[in-house]
Amino acid sequence: MKIALIAHDNKKTDLVQFSTAYSSILEQHELFATGTTGLRISEATGLQIHRFQSGPLGGDQEIGAMIAKNQMDMVIFFRDPLTAQPHEPDVTALIRLCDVYSVPLATNMGTAEVLIHGLEKGFISWREIIHERQEGNNL
Ligand code: PGA
Repeated sequence: MKIALIAHDNKKTDLVQFSTAYSSILEQHELFATGTTGLRISEATGLQIHRFQSGPLGGDQEIGAMIAKNQMDMVIFFRDPLTAQPHEPDVTALIRLCDVYSVPLATNMGTAEVLIHGLEKGFISWREIIHERQEGNNL
């Protein structure tokens, strides 16, 4: 599965701790992140992560582009609900695209816990059917 990891500045430590706790699950998947979040997580955990631009410089939109191609299978996005973000429209667009493509999205630690356990138990294996259909359409 392809998994995106994003955290606003005040939530980065939470996401680093979450990724550390679940690194044995995350390492079995293809990981993507916005620039600074990806750097923090890879430094703390050693996980291999494809890093896009920093969020305010377009990283959220790059991840959004993957969602728009139905290539992203899960998004864990620890938002800071108490601080205004310069790239708020990008954040809104990313969340909207998750809804357009029914991509499992966690915007806080509580939901992320549920998603990561669901991932481990195979609850989002239905995403593989979508990928098979996409490959069929491309033949
Ligand atoms: P960052 O971007 O990981 O580069 O800080 C995250 C964001 O603010 O969207």
